Amino acid sequence: MKWSYRIARIAGIDVRIHITFLLLPLYFGWVAWQAGGSTEAVRAVLFIFLLFICVLLHEFGHALAGRHYGVPTPDITLLPIGGVARMLAVPDKPKEEFVIAVAGPAVNVVIAAVLAPVLWLTGGLFSGPAGETREILHNLLLVNLGLVVFNMIPAFPMDGGRVFRSLLAMKIRWTKATRIAGRTGQVLAGAFCVGGFLQGNFMLMLIAIFVFNGAQDEIRFANYREDLERQPPPLPPEDWFERRM
Ligand SMILES: [Zn+2]
Repeated sequence: MKWSYRIARIAGIDVRIHITFLLLPLYFGWVAWQAGGSTEAVRAVLFIFLLFICVLLHEFGHALAGRHYGVPTPDITLLPIGGVARMLAVPDKPKEEFVIAVAGPAVNVVIAAVLAPVLWLTGGLFSGPAGETREILHNLLLVNLGLVVFNMIPAFPMDGGRVFRSLLAMKIRWTKATRIAGRTGQVLAGAFCVGGFLQGNFMLMLIAIFVFNGAQDEIRFANYREDLERQPPPLPPEDWFERRM
């Protein structure tokens, strides 16, 4: 990906950061600074940092599940709208795609499950924040649950959409499953776009574009693959037989 830089290599996977990602702490740091000065700004930047560690762990969930099925992931790139694990193959066994897709949100469930008892032991899970650390952990818990819910929306090629496609592909042809999941994803992308516009949520509108184009690419790829399967391989020239008779 252009304009992205390697910041680490973990478990044989390059962790890259896209230059636009830096806009995120800058923007939220600036907004917080305007509202409450430098303390708020530091807190906001720290929160973004922790949030993206959770996003990174989510991507590693996908990558390591993929590795289990022999699908390599050379790199994970952090973008302002989230992380992208670049996998080098498409698992065409529905069960494998299902597991790889679920592995990401499952990591956020685990993070939330680790944070919940910590919050519970320090003064009740739902009793609201008291103290800075508690507030950050409280928000981190909510954001991880939010990531699970948002990612599981069946907006193919988001995780929930991949789960949807894999479930369909257990019953019908892979290409047809892709077309149904893809069109569903595009309809939901339209809804994201409208919702984002009405709320003034620029990020959601970006995600909508990302989902819409991603679904289009996946449908095109599935159609291409079906065309390849449909067309019998070209016959060898006639003299090819003659010489061997
Ligand atoms: Zn994911």
